[in-house]
Amino acid sequence: MNVAIIGMGTAGVSVLRQLVKHQNFAELNIDIYDNATNMGQGEPFQNDSDDLLINIPVDMLSLNIDNIKEFREWYEAQTDFDYGDVDYLPRFVFGHYMKSYLNHYVETYDNIHVVHKEVSQIAIEEQENEATPKNIIVCVGNAEKTCRKYDYVFLTIGTMSYNDPYKLKGELGFIHSPYPANHTLEQVQENDEIAVIGTGLASLDVIRYVLNHHNKKLLLASRSGQLPSVRGDMIEFELQYLTKERFKQLKHEHMGVVPLDDVIALFHKECEALDIPLAQLLHRKTGDVVKDLTYDLSHPEMLGKLQSVLMAIKDNMDWIWNSLMHEDQQVYLERYHQYVKENSNPMPRDTAELILNAIDNGMIEVCSGLEYVERKHGRYQLKFGALGRQRTVDVVINATGPKTRLDQLDESDALLLDMANRHIVQSHPMGGIQIKPETNEVISSRYGTLTNLCAIGQITNGVNFQRNAVTMIVQQAVKTVGQLYQYLERQQQLDTTVETMK
Ligand SMILES: Cc1cc2nc3c(=O)[nH]c(=O)nc-3n(C[C@H](O)[C@H](O)[C@H](O)COP(=O)(O)OP(=O)(O)OC[C@H]3O[C@@H](n4cnc5c(N)ncnc54)[C@H](O)[C@@H]3O)c2cc1C
Repeated sequence: MNVAIIGMGTAGVSVLRQLVKHQNFAELNIDIYDNATNMGQGEPFQNDSDDLLINIPVDMLSLNIDNIKEFREWYEAQTDFDYGDVDYLPRFVFGHYMKSYLNHYVETYDNIHVVHKEVSQIAIEEQENEATPKNIIVCVGNAEKTCRKYDYVFLTIGTMSYNDPYKLKGELGFIHSPYPANHTLEQVQENDEIAVIGTGLASLDVIRYVLNHHNKKLLLASRSGQLPSVRGDMIEFELQYLTKERFKQLKHEHMGVVPLDDVIALFHKECEALDIPLAQLLHRKTGDVVKDLTYDLSHPEMLGKLQSVLMAIKDNMDWIWNSLMHEDQQVYLERYHQYVKENSNPMPRDTAELILNAIDNGMIEVCSGLEYVERKHGRYQLKFGALGRQRTVDVVINATGPKTRLDQLDESDALLLDMANRHIVQSHPMGGIQIKPETNEVISSRYGTLTNLCAIGQITNGVNFQRNAVTMIVQQAVKTVGQLYQYLERQQQLDTTVETMK
């Protein structure tokens, strides 16, 4: 069976890891596609400054679903990188851990073929006989000779391109993507004033990098002006009330869906069982970054418990999220998601201390209420709030995060746009593309459920809401690979039946 894996970052490498484990692996013929730079490392873990850290402690980040310490063990066994016994390693080290597995597989198995090219187009070849699965055609250039046919394809192309909320892409001094961070300051002059727009996780990378490599005050600007919370003392935790069993009962009582109010009530029970002062924690933010970070740093115990509950929920978000009606999903986004966002994906304590120091030394200023950014007379004007406050800087670094919806895409997302044009993928109302939640199979408006095309990663964010961290990507890879081998078995049975009928 011919298999393609398109995109060799966390998801692509995880898929390959799972594939090689199976007893029938030798029956596959696998092509893996990515550009030479990202092959095996992906975007977030590419070679970059060591100021950029993983956002999950080393002991909690692994590509091996059965061994959460694998990355730690790999790090301790190798000799190329030495950052001591730290909790948060530079991100590219994780990239090299992934790549070491890829290299090992490529050297060991001759049925894996590396294509150092990005895929430009995907098409579906329809079969005359409905029972026969559809072939998937994958091309890397415009010429037809670059196209190959596959029986099964994994679409693991990572995140959509970066947002451009103020339409500044292409303007001099506007750095559209903050990665790789070690290139962001290449065009920046010593005396340039820099603003970062967006204060989510990506802004933390920029802060760490710019503080270490530029000697002028950094302006952090966003609508909320709030930074992520600080990681507390996480605990081992399993959900007791928000369980599949309970959801099954609730679905039975409510015609196949779970009402949001019940989910919230169960969430409260989880927090009560751990004595988490929920109201106090959810309403602790004052809007003053110094007060907020200081509060988080001095309450690691209760914050760690809340973060552990939220992490367990995110681990199970596939069945939780997809049990809600659309209407309830919208209500969740409007009413509750802000609290979850503020309290999940926390930053390391060191980063919080670094930011507090920099604010204290006058090297960082945080401004909320950002409404507009425009380029005027060669500089950038940032406008804040109703009072018409303004700040002017020379350089703007965009940390507003990637796009989430198909209708926002542009030429930077050419493959996905082309697939949408060919009706292979269609947009999900909550973002990304439509897939079957249980199987990650792509649902096409033209071809129905494509049982031999699986998508994993941020492009599936409408279904896999908030499920893009390494552990969740690995879970999905494990699941989809199981399906491929079932598919292989079914195809072999079909071939035998056709043979006997001849
Ligand atoms: C900046 C950043 C930091 C993060 N840090 C963490 C962290 O510390 N811990 C954590 O758990 N999660 C982190 N995440 C979440 C992260 O998205 C996932 O952990 C994971 O890396 C996503 O894996 P992926 O395979 O979907 O995407 P990627 O790892 O980005 O892989 C996608 C690959 O597809 C390739 N590709 C794209 N288009 C094509 C094409 N047309 N043809 C061929 N190849 C293509 C890309 O070059 C890339 O290599 C971070 C995310 C970002 C953006």
